[in-house]
Amino acid sequence: MVREVNSTMSDMSVISYQSGPFATVSMGLPGDHEGKTATRVFFVKGRDKLALIDSGLYAGYPSLERGFEELGYAKSDLDYLLITHEHMDHVGNNGPLKDETGCTIMGHKARADRVADNMLNATTIVHAFPEGKNFDLKSEYLDWMAPKEGPLDAFLDHGDIIDLGGGIELEVLDCRGHSMAEIGFFERSTRTLVIADPLLPVFNPVLYLYEDPAVMRATFDRIEAFIRDRDVQTVLLAHEDPRSGEETFELIDSARARVDGIERSMLENIKAKPGIGFAELRDKICDEFDKVREWRALVSIDASLKAFESVGTITKSGNGWAYAG
Ligand SMILES: [Zn+2]
Repeated sequence: MVREVNSTMSDMSVISYQSGPFATVSMGLPGDHEGKTATRVFFVKGRDKLALIDSGLYAGYPSLERGFEELGYAKSDLDYLLITHEHMDHVGNNGPLKDETGCTIMGHKARADRVADNMLNATTIVHAFPEGKNFDLKSEYLDWMAPKEGPLDAFLDHGDIIDLGGGIELEVLDCRGHSMAEIGFFERSTRTLVIADPLLPVFNPVLYLYEDPAVMRATFDRIEAFIRDRDVQTVLLAHEDPRSGEETFELIDSARARVDGIERSMLENIKAKPGIGFAELRDKICDEFDKVREWRALVSIDASLKAFESVGTITKSGNGWAYAG
């Protein structure tokens, strides 16, 4: 692992946001994401306990270590590592953090098997489709996660409260759709909502937004109602800067429009070319939305194909699909 030399320590802070009990550490993403997106992890400090929401990606471990230093925390201060979802840029440092801090790792039980096994995590998403076979697991996925995993020690579900002491409490919010095991965290005293990926920014180079379009849309509605009901002041997101509640409504509308747009484009392409196959459909839609033609796009397209098929909008035709009204 490459370490930052000490002389650069004072030049640039890795802390991109700090307010009340919160401090955010930003880590740049490699590959197609280079320079476009960063992933963020969030320290939350109560009187009695220190939590970290997500561990980030392996290449960002030096940034995370600098985050501890800049904030004046010892590694052994970390009590809880709270996982929003099992994707590689959110669990990549679970193993090193577990080893070096002894923290308790908590997340949703639905994907506990994937958090516990890098290879299973990679193969279940990348190799789920014949078209995914071309992608190199190591460069596309396994390199982003530390060689040793950090499995979940305890499970969290919607409505659970994590008490960090001194009035700092995190409430767990169901955020499934992008991942079918995704959760968010609401800090009650500061009315701050931490949601990693249910509302990906529009500049994200990857088409993949959702694993299940209906569950995703229900989550957009739930987040919108939650912000309104709880008068959420600040929303912290994994792949872009903090937003106010009002600004988050715009992002929710944009995310809804993107899900609708993908599905509209799918149906147009299926109507235009009866029998169109999975790979061609993927390429057309990625091109239309200016996204990278890669395996993650297949996840959302496959989910919407299944949803359309289940209500009879499309039917299988040869090796592809045809419009059935
Ligand atoms: Zn992410």
